Amino acid sequence: MSETIFTKIINREIPADIVYEDDLSLAFRDINPQAPVHLLVIPKKPIVSINEIEESDRELVGHLYWVAGKLAKDMGFDQDGYRTVMNCGENAGQTVFHIHLHLLAGKPLGWPPY
Ligand code: ADP
Repeated sequence: MSETIFTKIINREIPADIVYEDDLSLAFRDINPQAPVHLLVIPKKPIVSINEIEESDRELVGHLYWVAGKLAKDMGFDQDGYRTVMNCGENAGQTVFHIHLHLLAGKPLGWPPY
């Protein structure tokens, strides 16, 4: 398993603005925010992409959505709304091959993402 920059963040080998952590996951601010609030919610387990999610990872992936919803509600975005996105592969623009749920909030967000 090749190590990505997100493993280094989990292991505190490089800095990140971490906003949440539990035994399964970590959430931190995106270094290149695309909205007033742009967080990444990642599993500590280094899953390469959606393609590599196994049956035994179903609860873990669900947990990422629970964390995203909790953080969005804690920040007060439950009324205005927000977006979660997990990109997979080249056509979706995935650049870091450790799954991550983008949480974007704080402004109206365009759709579809051409
Ligand atoms: P894209 O780079 O096209 O957004 P991804 O969905 O793979 O594709 O997202 C990777 C995200 O990780 C990007 O939003 C990028 O800004 C973010 N990122 C990369 N390195 C870091 C880092 N060291 N700390 C925080 N965020 C990072």
